[in-house]
Order: sequence, then structure tokens, then C-alpha cells
Amino acid sequence: MLRRVCVLCGSSAGRQPAYAAAARQLARVLAERGIGVVCGGATAGLMGVVAEAAAAAGGDVVGVITPELAATEGHGGIQLEIVATMHQRKQRFSALTDAYVALPGGFGTLDELFEALAWNQLGIHRKPTGLLNAAGYYDGLLRFLRHAEREAFVDGEHVAGLVAAEDAEALIDALHSRLSPPTAGDRRRRP
Ligand code: AMP
Repeated sequence: MLRRVCVLCGSSAGRQPAYAAAARQLARVLAERGIGVVCGGATAGLMGVVAEAAAAAGGDVVGVITPELAATEGHGGIQLEIVATMHQRKQRFSALTDAYVALPGGFGTLDELFEALAWNQLGIHRKPTGLLNAAGYYDGLLRFLRHAEREAFVDGEHVAGLVAAEDAEALIDALHSRLSPPTAGDRRRRP
């Protein structure tokens, strides 16, 4: 079951209004399905748009943020979890969530996305991971990943593990279908 999704996205809003529109659509779809959002907890760029829209739609939103960022741009309208470092922040993103979605973003977003994928590859966690490819923003990255596969640096299985869609409903459906079935241990731990 998808209980919480970690939404990775830019601290900028980008050039095209389609990016913020996709962020709002994703937040709305998650709230409508009762899926919580874990995000960067800042007001900047698409991060602020996601936090705002998810809270406005009545969704459960947790922002994980360092004290320095919280002081300057912590989002006042959502629950904030304060962590000491950016590395701890990424560990909390993994611990709190069942899947990842990356909206358009820059180095920070790509760093978090590729760490999530590398941890899948290493078996550190198993989290379905998707790109919300608003206005084709990630077309070039998807082409590059196929190149990396052809050049034998990334297994096809791992490239295929990154699901991409332009529409939030379709993306969440695809992530849902890729969740691992619970193990016997998970079943025993449930009430
Ligand atoms: P970027 O894609 O480079 O704009 O970085 C966005 C991602 O990196 C977010 O998901 C945050 O986790 C982190 N990040 C980068 N810059 C900031 C910022 N100014 N405030 C909070 N988080 C940030």
C-alpha cells in the first residue's frame, strides 16, 4: 500500500507554468487518494507549491528540513521534522516513505532521485520511483539513461525501474502496481 510518497522537486519554479501545474496536480491526486506527502519542507519554488497544494487539499504533509533552512524558508503551514544534516534528511525521506516521485528540479532533485535509485540497485531499500515528466522536462534524461544501458553501465532492469509519466494519476497507478507484496514478516507485524 502507498501510505506516503516522497516528492522531490526544485527549489525553483522553472520557466514554464506547466511545472507548477504538475506539482499542484500531483499534490491533489495524492491527497484525494489519502496518500501522505513527505517533502523538503521549504517555501521555495516547486517545493512550496507542493506543500501548499497538498495542505490545501487536506493531505497529510511532512517536511523534513535542516535548522538552517527551516530558519530562512521553513514552511509554516505544514508539519516540519528538523534533522541535523542534508544526509540525515535523505535517510528520513527513505524511512518515512513507500515510493518516490521527482517533479522537475535541478541538482538537489537529481541528487535525491539518483540516491533513491542507487539504493534500490544496492538493495538498501525497495521503493518504486517515478518521474513526473511535466512538459517533457525529463525527456533528455530518459534518453541518457537508455544510452547508459546500451553502454553497459546500468542494467536494463534498473532503467526500467524508473517509471515516467506526464500525468500524476497514471504515475501513481504505475508506482502502486510496482510495490512489493508484503513479506510474511511484514504480515506478522501488522495488527
Ligand atoms: P534543486 O533541485 O537543486 O532546486 O534542489 C531541490 C532539492 O534539494 C529539494 O528536494 C531539497 O531537498 C534540496 N534543496 C535544495 N535547495 C534547497 C533550499 N533552498 N531549501 C530547501 N531544500 C533545498
